[in-house]
Amino acid sequence: MQKTKKTNSSLGYIIIIALVLTLVYTMFNPSPTAPEKVTLDTFLSDIDGGIVDTIEVQGSKIYYTTTGDAEFYTVKETSESLTAVLGERDYTDIQIEVVDTEAGSFWVELVISAVPFLLIIGFLFFMMRQATSSNNQALSFGKSQARINDPEKKKTTFKDVAGAKEAKEELIEVVDFLKNPNKYTSMGAKIPKGVILVGAPGTGKTLLARAVAGEAGVPFFNISGSEFVEMFVGVGASRVRDLFKKAKRNAPCIIFIDEIDAVGRHRGAGMGGGHDEREQTLNQILTEMDGFEQDTNVIVMAATNRPDVLDPALLRPGRFDRRIVIDRPDIEDREEILHIHTRNKPLAKNIDLNKIARQTPGFSGADIENLANEAAILAASNNKKSVSQKDLEKSIEKVVMGPERKSRVLNKKEKEITAYHETGHAIVGHLLPECDPVHKVSIISRGMALGVTWFLPEEDKHLYSKTKFENELASLLGGYAAETMIFGEVSTGPSNDLKRATDMARKMVTKYGMSGLGATIYGDENDEVFLGKDFGHVRNYSEQVASKIDETVQAIMGTALKVATTILKENEDKLHKVAKELISKENLARNEFIKLMGDLEEKQESEEEITED
Ligand code: ADP
Ligand code: MG
Ligand code: ZN
Repeated sequence: MQKTKKTNSSLGYIIIIALVLTLVYTMFNPSPTAPEKVTLDTFLSDIDGGIVDTIEVQGSKIYYTTTGDAEFYTVKETSESLTAVLGERDYTDIQIEVVDTEAGSFWVELVISAVPFLLIIGFLFFMMRQATSSNNQALSFGKSQARINDPEKKKTTFKDVAGAKEAKEELIEVVDFLKNPNKYTSMGAKIPKGVILVGAPGTGKTLLARAVAGEAGVPFFNISGSEFVEMFVGVGASRVRDLFKKAKRNAPCIIFIDEIDAVGRHRGAGMGGGHDEREQTLNQILTEMDGFEQDTNVIVMAATNRPDVLDPALLRPGRFDRRIVIDRPDIEDREEILHIHTRNKPLAKNIDLNKIARQTPGFSGADIENLANEAAILAASNNKKSVSQKDLEKSIEKVVMGPERKSRVLNKKEKEITAYHETGHAIVGHLLPECDPVHKVSIISRGMALGVTWFLPEEDKHLYSKTKFENELASLLGGYAAETMIFGEVSTGPSNDLKRATDMARKMVTKYGMSGLGATIYGDENDEVFLGKDFGHVRNYSEQVASKIDETVQAIMGTALKVATTILKENEDKLHKVAKELISKENLARNEFIKLMGDLEEKQESEEEITED
């Protein structure tokens, strides 16, 4: 890029020089005071009259002075010579001078003829540069594009990573391997060659890998798996070769392959083109890792969120045998991450980050970073001096449910249907024991949804019981039940609820063994299909079982709907009360909802309600 820029500017110089030359020329050759123009006839009659003193011919122009020293000029046809114009006339007394017009404008001519010439040269030059630079590109195609981290730049360290304690402990060991390899080799221990970080997107895998490099203070070759996969077959493999060669030269160091699943998928699984390339690249990685000498102090780190699709050969001992799982952050970790990402943001004094952490179960580190940023944006757009608790909470809603879409106006009927629908969810969920507490009910559209009922668990959950699933199903179908009950028919509103409920019911049967079909898993334990591997996927159960599964799923759904309908029938007065309130207010916070439900024992919790600023 830089090269072409340079050529562009030299072209510019040439043009500027040409312009300056022209300017200078015209400045030093000011046009003389113009003689008066006369017709050819006048000129000829002047000659006949014998008053012409001198004649000067410049191309088609004839300048002449009279005996009275007056200056005139006239124009003849270019091709016609002066003698032809004068014809038979006698001009022996007149001093005639023919000026070579070419000579007079030599410099102008030079510049004028030079400009296109220079332009062409400049253009050729430019083209040549382009050609060579793309040539270079073609030549460096097989070179790895790994970026080495710059030690000058602000280093990421473990301090920048909140939570992930176990992962950090393991990685501290890796840092130690790199710093003091002798300590381990003298004990006869083999230094691990490959470490793979496994975790959901946004849980900080890339961040941790950077932190390892920062802590170890060693070169860090950073490349993403997708960069190996190029248009041309063989490029990936040659890039791998080049990358490992560079790394060995710079040992001790770390090679970090981000998103390794892009190249590390099960071999022989691809459909159509492209998989050959991936296989070659993967084979090359394996070969290189096997080829490390015992004392090569290069550690290969990789990150993926799809460990299930990785080729087993990658995970074999001696390759990526260290597997570090990075979980989604728990409450404490979330609070710590919030602290990290609000470090450089002015916070209101009464802020309670722990409360925010409790309201964000399931958030990844990246989600929390996003949340903190949204809050700052919100505060700034309201011209506030600091970020308040309210800003943070609004942002949770935005991150969880999408931004409010106040412009999507529901008509009266739609509003009513949505209100009963959401109230149905809320009441069923509220009255069933295993459901999470209702946090907020809203009929303001967000994203694709017309309304939302937001349940919030009191703590992070790791295990779910069958009863919990059944209760959640009933609550999911609460919207459907309420619509049928009040309006006698359903709208398209519950469609998404139905999909989620059906998926859940099916998983209960086929994945968790929570039905009459017993403790068996039906189908692949891998529900994430990726094209190719499961293309010719064979069901591992018979047609009979398939129809039984369908029946069982239907039965579970039927029961759940019955439970929901019964609860709503028993609480019809509350359903009307809450829905009416929802129609007029559009949003019901937890304490408002509970008050309407008339539950006093929940009062304690409602005290926790956030103090508004
Ligand atoms: P991944 O590679 O796992 O998809 P990243 O490492 O790219 O995720 O994380 C995205 C961003 O989320 C990071 O830049 C960081 O700001 C934030 N983040 C994630 N996890 C943490 C954490 N444990 N502590 C602090 N910030 C985190
Ligand atoms: Mg990443
Ligand atoms: Zn719904």
